[in-house]
Amino acid sequence: MAFRLLIDGKLVEGASRLDVINPASGTVFETCACADEVQLEQAIAAAKRAFPGWASLTQAARGDCLDRLADAVQARLDEFSSLLTGEQGKPLNQSKGEIAMAVATLRYFATQDLPLQTIKDTEEGRVLEQRTPLGVVAAITPWNYPVYLLAVKVALGLVVGNTMVAKPAPSTPLTTSLFGEVAADILPPGVFNVIIDANDLGSKLTTHPDVAKISFTGSTSTGKRVMESAADTLKRVTLELGGNDAAIILDDVDVAEVARKVFTAATVNAGQICLATKRIYAPRSLYDALCDELATLAQKAVVDDGLKQGTQIGPVQNKQQYEKVLDIIEEAKTLGTVIAGGHALDRPGYFIAPTVVRDLPDSARLVREEQFGPAIPVLAYDSVDEVIERVNDSEYGLGGTIWTAATDRGLEIAMRIQSGTIWVNKPVELPFDIPLGGAKQSGIGRELGIDGMKEFTQGKIINVARHS
Ligand code: ADP
Repeated sequence: MAFRLLIDGKLVEGASRLDVINPASGTVFETCACADEVQLEQAIAAAKRAFPGWASLTQAARGDCLDRLADAVQARLDEFSSLLTGEQGKPLNQSKGEIAMAVATLRYFATQDLPLQTIKDTEEGRVLEQRTPLGVVAAITPWNYPVYLLAVKVALGLVVGNTMVAKPAPSTPLTTSLFGEVAADILPPGVFNVIIDANDLGSKLTTHPDVAKISFTGSTSTGKRVMESAADTLKRVTLELGGNDAAIILDDVDVAEVARKVFTAATVNAGQICLATKRIYAPRSLYDALCDELATLAQKAVVDDGLKQGTQIGPVQNKQQYEKVLDIIEEAKTLGTVIAGGHALDRPGYFIAPTVVRDLPDSARLVREEQFGPAIPVLAYDSVDEVIERVNDSEYGLGGTIWTAATDRGLEIAMRIQSGTIWVNKPVELPFDIPLGGAKQSGIGRELGIDGMKEFTQGKIINVARHS
């Protein structure tokens, strides 16, 4: 049967099978191997056994494996993309984009190195810093970008010499299983293992004494549990968690153009991106015009099965999230004015009409919480100081955008926003060589860039006397 686990280089059947739902129909369309605790132990043990051999290879040799993995994923692009749309819901062109990003990430980090650094070289001697791999890494991924986020962890973690046990979210296991199938032919046994669960093995993986590091992407609440699990053996953690990114629009913009860009940033992947625009702040002078533009864009957006050509926005990925977004919209209806959408689509699957709500108080759930769906609040502000204060008044601090005709004004505001990243006149952009990470409760640590690679290593200082 297809969609198996990868343990110690072998594709194996699980202790049970897991039903996988297509969010565009709300019905089961595939099944997948599901591991039990014994299989999880086997995977961790295999990763532990494989570690010394993999770590002793040169970075170039490991990079070569990652390059071949990238080739092999690329060769099955169509299969990966349609499977991703099937389990995740996003439009097929966005799935292809995600797989292409995953491939490019593997290729980029395949060529990166963390060479021995000389920190100091004086008469008294030399101080060097060596970066050594940590051991077995648990890579835990969510259901919004199951392939790209896995590829980031694989690329960063494996190239520097760690081995890995990857665990996808139970609602999007198929593409990770396929990734495992592809990797089985390329990576030495045990270097990369895939464990799929029914949401019951996460904490066993994160508390396991043989796991040295947890690289987790998911919700802030689960991230906190992961951090607790790591405490006992002081595991290293990288947490990429939730966000409530604001788009701050200044009074000098072309409203129609910015509305298009911000609408896309809010609704790509049906709004299910940690870095999606989740609240829009407009100066009072442009407020009505911007609300009208956004409402028109929302009403015109094509919401349908991601496999249908022309679909712009697919379903919400799972029933629980669908119900949560609808709850948040229900509350918004009582507190503000819905100018587009505001309801589920009357069809099977987890479709929500793109929703724009104006005149909400800052205390509304749609403003304060991470909605993670195709619903966006538009809020008016009167002064720049005021908007900065309101934007920063959040437990999150992941990203955000500023839109202005005067880049310098944007930069000045950017310097005052409490977040890990802020883009000025750009939608979300994630270059491989630029570190990414959250402020406040949006996370700990960095992914991507050299900083991202360092997170998968231990820095060791070697202090050598000049003379014996
Ligand atoms: P969501 O709440 O949006 O479903 P989560 O953040 O809970 O997303 O899930 C992200 C990933 O974390 C998934 O792979 C999930 O199975 C996993 N997970 C859930 N609970 C735990 C836990 N206690 N420890 C480790 N991983 C967990």
